[in-house]
Amino acid sequence: MRIKYIAGNWKMHKTVPEAVSLAQALVKDLASCGHKIMIAPPFTALEAVAKTVASSNILLGAQNMSNAEQGAHTGEVSVLMLKQIGVKVVILGHSERRAIYGEKDEFINSKVKLALAQGLEVILCVGETLQEREAGKANDIVSGQTGKGLAGIPEKDLGRVTIAYEPVWAIGTGKNATPQDADAIHAVIRAELKKLYSAAAAEAMIIQYGGSVKPENAKDLLTMPNIDGALVGGAALKPETFIPIVCFDK
Ligand code: PEP
Repeated sequence: MRIKYIAGNWKMHKTVPEAVSLAQALVKDLASCGHKIMIAPPFTALEAVAKTVASSNILLGAQNMSNAEQGAHTGEVSVLMLKQIGVKVVILGHSERRAIYGEKDEFINSKVKLALAQGLEVILCVGETLQEREAGKANDIVSGQTGKGLAGIPEKDLGRVTIAYEPVWAIGTGKNATPQDADAIHAVIRAELKKLYSAAAAEAMIIQYGGSVKPENAKDLLTMPNIDGALVGGAALKPETFIPIVCFDK
């Protein structure tokens, strides 16, 4: 039986005081909600939020990291720096990193390898654009991104990997995939994992859905058989929208 895992990606929002205040509200109101919970504030707020969520049931995540451990990489943030301040999870391959910053599967894979080697958990994002979906390529795109993102990762490390299926056309647009459509793609990802690893690995993998998840659609999405959680953007920025998503079954 897979657990439910709900993560909030705060993107480039929240100053340090704003981030601490949101984290404080979540610590208070999510204490009894159950499920695995993660929040990913911007880099500048990570250390302050780390203190706020310490000894709570909320994991601290980063939204990205460098593929190099350290060195001459102006503007980048190292996995060692993230670990040192209490980050446990890193989101990699988000569609905004792929589309705006040109991150390719091989580059994302080098980050996945480094994060896992350094003991972090990873959320690997995959998803098709509207053009790809309309061309009937959604299954191939998500399968390809899954395989390439996990290239060289042994099955024993998969327990620290979550896949987030985020159709690009649904991110920040208010349009979400129907629960049935999302579930079908999750099943495709699971089938790919079975091919790449084993039936047991595919069955155990937590696959989140992301793309305009809100309190109104959370329950319908999160009760589908292959949807094991959510990666939430806009609705993660306010307690009144994130809390009902995490507590969808209360
Ligand atoms: C995201 O950024 O991963 C995301 C899914 O955003 P939103 O929930 O705003 O669509």
